Amino acid sequence: MTRGTKLAAVVKANAYGHGTAEVAPFAAAHADWLAVHTAEEARRLRRLGLSSPVLIMGFMARGELHDLDADVHVFVSTDEVLRWLGEYRRSSGISLPIHLKIDTGTKRQGFERSRIADVCRTAAGEGLSIVGIATHFANIEDTLEHDFARRQLALFGDAVAALRRELSSDVPYVHAACSAASLLFRETDFNLARIGISMYGHWPSRETRLTWILDHGRNGVKLEPALAWRTVIGQFQHVATGETVGYGRTWRALRATRLAVLPVGYADGYARALSNRARVLVGGRPVPVVGRVCMNMMMVDVTDVPEAAVGDEVVLLGRQGDAAVTAEELAELSGTINYEFLCRLSPAIPRFVVGDAGEVAAR
Ligand SMILES: *Cc1c(COP(=O)(O)O)cnc(C)c1O
Repeated sequence: MTRGTKLAAVVKANAYGHGTAEVAPFAAAHADWLAVHTAEEARRLRRLGLSSPVLIMGFMARGELHDLDADVHVFVSTDEVLRWLGEYRRSSGISLPIHLKIDTGTKRQGFERSRIADVCRTAAGEGLSIVGIATHFANIEDTLEHDFARRQLALFGDAVAALRRELSSDVPYVHAACSAASLLFRETDFNLARIGISMYGHWPSRETRLTWILDHGRNGVKLEPALAWRTVIGQFQHVATGETVGYGRTWRALRATRLAVLPVGYADGYARALSNRARVLVGGRPVPVVGRVCMNMMMVDVTDVPEAAVGDEVVLLGRQGDAAVTAEELAELSGTINYEFLCRLSPAIPRFVVGDAGEVAAR
């Protein structure tokens, strides 16, 4: 990020699955802002005792506008939300500061640039202040071609100029960058950057990492995943040659096999698509998941780890000895991306913060 740019630590979706209660206090101590998707997530941050300015980036339903203080800023991309914010101001006396979300080609959220003058008039009529302007890129993560991002950036520049003219003043907060944008395009930093996945120690995508390496070489940014996911061996099963394992009998033993049963399943976020595909670490060695992943249990083949015992640590995600399993690997094996794999980790899994750097370990 550029010096002088303020950092909004994105802690939506249970802090990308890492745990809001564990991550947000650490993020609040190191970042200027916290960014979330919903009003309820903003209230949760306040209940955790955090007083940082908060940016609500997602949709706002009318019923969600309550118990929000004046340090909670809101992305506005519809006339309805503008009106509801006006009603909230009249009923509570609290005017939530507005950041105009401008659509520059993502076609997800945001006003057309041509609406800026008219939106400014409505906001003024409702007694609301526009303190920021923002956009979000459509195609920075998934590609090595960044022409579309540059076009979006140019359109955003026009929108910022239009808003300045309309308000006859500078706009305090101008922001467009997510992790990939901030990593690859310094010029997207403006004065606030909304950083999610890279804060948790993950590259947004292989393409982002490749683009970085092509532009800067291998050195410079080293991202270390903050989260590890561990469990223990619950019990063993002995399977004779030819016997099958689990629901649907999808795995058949080609040798006398010792299975370890683990108390983790797809309800915890270990995707069922990983059945017969993924590996976990036992005794510092990768061992295969065999049979279908069940709702709350799964089986792994530990025949080649004879010393394994009930209660031994099993690493589902993270390092053990010299071996590692990454979120990227599990995401790819289950047909998704690291973002989805991480934020689907069940909030019910106990999380423990370990290490000085506030490394978050989920067990
Ligand atoms: C989630 C989100 C971000 C953060 O994106 P990362 O790729 O995780 O850095 C930034 N801006 C908006 C609007 C978002 O929804």
